[in-house]
Amino acid sequence: MTHPCLSCGACCAAFRVPMYWSEAEDRGIDPGLTEKIDPLRVAMRVDDALHLRCIALDGEIGMNTACRIYVQRPSPCRDLTAAWEHGQPSPQCDRARARHGLPPLTPADWSAPG
Ligand code: SF4
Ligand code: SF4
Repeated sequence: MTHPCLSCGACCAAFRVPMYWSEAEDRGIDPGLTEKIDPLRVAMRVDDALHLRCIALDGEIGMNTACRIYVQRPSPCRDLTAAWEHGQPSPQCDRARARHGLPPLTPADWSAPG
């Protein structure tokens, strides 16, 4: 089984990803990938205003995606859990997938070893 997120990426093209500028600096996120949204916060730039597709996302939603700054990714990305990965639902995951025409994950998506 490959991790369902690797063939999804919907949440990286569904929500704004804000953070305090100090977090961006501490994580070493390239300033060119963020934009200022208020005096204290920046957000990941988007390259598709309609779907809020994060500029750091590579690949095709629902097929094969990857975050180019995975190790440095900000806290909102770390906090968003995939539905049922740890036995819990995730309304954000479900909503993001629905926005891209993908069905919600189910516990069965995590049942195969791998
Ligand atoms: S920083 Fe990476 S994990 Fe976060 S929204 Fe952008 S592509 Fe997705
Ligand atoms: S929407 Fe859910 S399954 Fe898709 S990448 Fe995000 S957490 Fe993973």
